Amino acid sequence: RAKSEGIGQIVRYSGSIGTETRERIRLLHELKGAFAAHKLFLVFQPQYMMPERKIFCCEALLRWKNDEGEFIPPDTFIPLAEQAGLIVPMGIWILRSALAALKTIHQAGFPDIKIAVNVSAVQMRHQDFLSELDLALEETGIDPRHLELEITEFISIIGIDNVLHLLNEIRSRGISLAIDDFGTGYSSLASIDKWPIHRIKIDKSFIKHLDDAEEKARLVDLLISLADRLSLNILAEGVETQSQFDRLLELGCQEIQGFLLSTPLGLEDLIRLLQKGVADAC
Ligand code: C2E
Ligand code: MG
Ligand code: MG
Ligand code: MG
Repeated sequence: RAKSEGIGQIVRYSGSIGTETRERIRLLHELKGAFAAHKLFLVFQPQYMMPERKIFCCEALLRWKNDEGEFIPPDTFIPLAEQAGLIVPMGIWILRSALAALKTIHQAGFPDIKIAVNVSAVQMRHQDFLSELDLALEETGIDPRHLELEITEFISIIGIDNVLHLLNEIRSRGISLAIDDFGTGYSSLASIDKWPIHRIKIDKSFIKHLDDAEEKARLVDLLISLADRLSLNILAEGVETQSQFDRLLELGCQEIQGFLLSTPLGLEDLIRLLQKGVADAC
């Protein structure tokens, strides 16, 4: 039986890989076109400080709406851009656009707001990364202390010595660093104390079951005490429900980001939200 079906199976198997590869090539081609035609854009999700519920930072998130009007999620197209090296020019554009948006926010009367920008390891290990970073700050006139870079534990693929050198260079400019999706990588607890970072972002998978799984709550509790021991700020991302929110406050987490408080917004909507905050406080 196995023998007689063998060939058919191989054909079907390689056939499906072929389709997938073709689909990825098509998507990458479309992405390159969209980037060249300036069709990518950023949205901004507020990060809140508790208990004041004050917005202190906004995370820039990349959006791509294709010609059919469908949103392609960044989790789908960023890995493609990384594999093709497209993330390098794209990352420079993201940084510049995010800083330009921050300038608009500051000029609208909110000069203390910071911006957090996601950077991929592929982008950071490029030799021009630091000089591009300096150039973008210089050209927009943004104080480096208003910029935070969100990295993930994947950054360790560039080797621990290189990472430390790079992160120290970034930090010496006054830029802050956050570890994103914390708890999903493998190196987390072992090396976290050696990294020159300012903030840990607890991955949303931990927050999701905070209400219904006691072991998740224990893990979050552990991460909060770890951050406290290391004098790091800790932010919970992906907070969707009031009970998750209440539980996080109970556990001592003071920085919250998630749909419960605000979805990612266009720049104008974000500024309106900031203005509303001021109005409400009066
Ligand atoms: P991330 O940096 O961890 O971003 C958080 C993701 O969670 C965002 O998804 C955001 O829209 C989503 N989110 C926020 N609040 C909630 C919530 O309450 N519930 C749920 N379920 N989700 C929430 P998004 O925008 O689809 O981005 C996905 C990932 O793509 C990001 O994860 C980041 O790793 C990557 N990414 C996005 N923009 C960029 C970028 O400009 N550069 C790079 N290198 N990566 C980016
Ligand atoms: Mg992020
Ligand atoms: Mg994250
Ligand atoms: Mg992520």
